[in-house]
Amino acid sequence: MPFSDFHGNSDVVHTLREMLAREHFPHAVILSGPQGSGKFTLAQMVAKAMNCLERPVTDGLPDFCGHCANCVRIAEADALEERFAEAVEARENLRDADKRETRILVQAHPDVLIIPPDPPQMLVKVDQVRHVIHEIYYKPAEARERVYIFSDADFMKEAANSLLKVLEEPPEFATLFLLTDNPSALLPTIRSRCMHLRLAPVPAAEVEQYLAQVRPEWKPRERALVARVCGGGLGRARSFDLPAYLAARQDALTLLGPAMGTLDHSALFRVTDTYRSGAEGKAKTEQLIRTLYALLEDLLFLKAGTPEFVRNHDIQPELARMAAEADFPWIVSATQRLGEVESGMRRNLLRSLALDTFATSLER
Ligand SMILES: [Zn+2]
Repeated sequence: MPFSDFHGNSDVVHTLREMLAREHFPHAVILSGPQGSGKFTLAQMVAKAMNCLERPVTDGLPDFCGHCANCVRIAEADALEERFAEAVEARENLRDADKRETRILVQAHPDVLIIPPDPPQMLVKVDQVRHVIHEIYYKPAEARERVYIFSDADFMKEAANSLLKVLEEPPEFATLFLLTDNPSALLPTIRSRCMHLRLAPVPAAEVEQYLAQVRPEWKPRERALVARVCGGGLGRARSFDLPAYLAARQDALTLLGPAMGTLDHSALFRVTDTYRSGAEGKAKTEQLIRTLYALLEDLLFLKAGTPEFVRNHDIQPELARMAAEADFPWIVSATQRLGEVESGMRRNLLRSLALDTFATSLER
């Protein structure tokens, strides 16, 4: 799969390939963009193009073959979520003493390292950066360039300071990618030492066209919904779990129901009772909370007279009825209470009870 398989943001792709062609690739690149906009896919493509053994040229610019030894090994990390889960599980199975010493890293090729945020805090830790410092000054073994991809560049303070040292004196043969959906959270001293490229959200109409190719089983109406809910993230849209989303949305509407005077409490309790403890219940609750945020935001768009931004536009008449019932202070307080539910989840409070409290607290 060459660069032409990357959808959207052709200007950024072109810039990266131009820099490859001139062999003046910067030592550190911040790739920012919304979740699912393809930051990691693109960084992996550049890593392949830098190290492809066949070095094909398309449209006059460097590309990658996808089947040489380097391309194939780098591509083993394309499925990052799976590799990450494997690394986390491997650590879980270690003795306690070793567990503390082990940092999560994903390495499919000896010269290409992916540094994901380390759970449970989901931040890059200083030991992960130390690992990078330890090896980055050695010449690549089997590639031309060493590539380091921080897949979600959210650093603990000490880790950020360590990274600065590398950015001040990067070796000739290494490139670092910092991927983030929030570049302003990076230290200014880090930002100033990197080239910053931004992936813009892909327009909803383009996402719909793309979905028509990759998810032909969805109805046009469903593709339109997914394109809006995913906010211009192609990767997110392609792998979107539509049935789970629709189920969560139905539950979210039931939760908001009593506040809107449209539903009885027994329906509400029947729903909240299905939000149980354990890992599965946690994922389900997180999905519900995300969906509630999105619905509240849609209500705000309607109240603000900007219905074109509404994402759940397939249920717009229902949302419009709710927006007529709700006022701004209610929406703001509902959003705040949802934040309280979210932090309660982190403290492992009983989910069904927290949701009941949330829903009943919204009634006026
Ligand atoms: Zn290749």
